[in-house]
Amino acid sequence: MDYSPSEISTAQLRYTGVGVSPGRVIAPLIPMAPPVAAPPEAEPLEGEPESAVERLSQAAASVKTELQQRAERARSEAAAEVLKATALMAGDKALIKNAAKLVRNQSLSPERALWDAASGYADQMRAMGGYMAERAADIEDVRARIVAELRGMPAPGVPQRTEPFVLAAEDLAPADTAVLDPETVVALVTSSGGPQSHTAILARNLGLPAVVAATGVTDIEPGTPVFVDGSAGSIVSHPGTEHEQAVAAWHRVSEQLASFDGHGALADGTDVPLLANVGTADDARAAAAAGAQGVGLLRTEFCFLGRDAEPTVQEQTEAYVEIFRAFGSAKIVVRTLDAGADKPLPFLTDTTEPNPALGVRGYRTDWTTPGVLERQLQAIAAAAQQTEATVWVMAPMISTAGESAHFAQLVHAAGLEVSGVMVETPAAAITAEQILDRVDFVSLGTNDLTQYTMAADRMLGSLAELNSPWQPAVLRMIERTAAGARAASSESGVHKNVGVCGEAAADPALAVVLVGLGVDTLSMSPRSLAAVAAVLARVDLERARVVAHTALHAASAREARDAVRAQLPVLEELGL
Ligand code: PEP
Ligand code: MG
Repeated sequence: MDYSPSEISTAQLRYTGVGVSPGRVIAPLIPMAPPVAAPPEAEPLEGEPESAVERLSQAAASVKTELQQRAERARSEAAAEVLKATALMAGDKALIKNAAKLVRNQSLSPERALWDAASGYADQMRAMGGYMAERAADIEDVRARIVAELRGMPAPGVPQRTEPFVLAAEDLAPADTAVLDPETVVALVTSSGGPQSHTAILARNLGLPAVVAATGVTDIEPGTPVFVDGSAGSIVSHPGTEHEQAVAAWHRVSEQLASFDGHGALADGTDVPLLANVGTADDARAAAAAGAQGVGLLRTEFCFLGRDAEPTVQEQTEAYVEIFRAFGSAKIVVRTLDAGADKPLPFLTDTTEPNPALGVRGYRTDWTTPGVLERQLQAIAAAAQQTEATVWVMAPMISTAGESAHFAQLVHAAGLEVSGVMVETPAAAITAEQILDRVDFVSLGTNDLTQYTMAADRMLGSLAELNSPWQPAVLRMIERTAAGARAASSESGVHKNVGVCGEAAADPALAVVLVGLGVDTLSMSPRSLAAVAAVLARVDLERARVVAHTALHAASAREARDAVRAQLPVLEELGL
């Protein structure tokens, strides 16, 4: 659908949210197309049944072609597969035949007939359970697309356009983002969604400027030109010359920040290895190409998501081998399955839990479904043997030293040497010394550590201010963890590594604070490596400690961030 600029008001308005991925652009804002409403029940046919049936077949055929074309342009194998499978459903002859029957025999409108026929399929698939039940949503997606086509409305989801645009949405679901084309979508702005939401993580992966929790952005008239500043967290409608200059300045800066030489260090030479967060072999190869010094977080659940049964040890081993190979002999920190909360897995987690984020997730699934963790460790050990990789293994969602000891025992029993745990709960941060008496390293998962410290759901845009790793309470948890590691190291005579693999590590200003608090290594989306490296290279350890002290003693997240930025003029110089 096209929007004519003449219909648009020209008042310059400013919207403020949380900047989650840096960059500045100017482009027209286009909202996510709204969901397609069901046609009225028993909506009657108008006109000849045969011409309605013809329209129906044509609409289905054009949806099929459109999905096939998008599959060809998809930026990943996985996205192409999803699109091809959906295209097949749109071309399903039985679906059109059943809908045509309803048009002819019950005089239903083609929209309603298609809706009823597709809904019948979706219900049957749900009743079958397992894999088929998971595909029911795909049939409903096809249903909405064909009805939108019949009505001459935009297809639901991410708009498909050939010109660059800023995508506005309340929030984005993983399914929307899988097929997002970074050639045309040049920035993301959402009215909801927190700094750790999928939108934020995806935007950083794609290197797209993004602002979340910006109330009102979805009310901006479609087609309005907007300026988006992903560092400042602002959006301005009808931008002026000063905004054009800001975009030009960003282009100059981003050229300087385009590459990372593969060696993270402070200005005084202190090494701060910079690693990557990855989920798939494609991610791992891209991370290695971007100069990452290893993998600081392998989210293994990506090998399991979308499965209704546990993958075999053989399948898992093959997946891990491919990932490990991307990095030669470098360090790969493998996180065991983190199912639960926003990443449910049908064979492991109970979706009826009243509070899934506080339920059986991560390491805890070993209590309810024993065996899966041990088989995963077996696969990791086999992959380690078949490659040169230096493999470390860690468990998510740990709360006690006892759990850590049990995990270390399982890791060693599988023949793996280095065990660690994630610090994602205040309990783990406070007892880091006791935990590190049992394991070799910890990695701070600041996304969850923030939500659990602040008691604020990480997916909720309305709590974005609380849900910030800049919160002094969160920084104190990190400080406690680093102090615990120092104590455990001096007692054992072996250095216990403290890493950060949450999104906090990807914020160049916060990266300085983390190092000042005593963090040894940082792991992030590969796109963030160059900017973080450039800032660290301009700060020495003494300065990082002073900056960290400032942040710890601030009264709020905003105050901490502002005070730190004021002490680090390099950020402004680099346009970050
Ligand atoms: C975290 O919680 O910071 C983390 C890295 O884990 P995830 O985002 O996968 O929950
Ligand atoms: Mg986590």
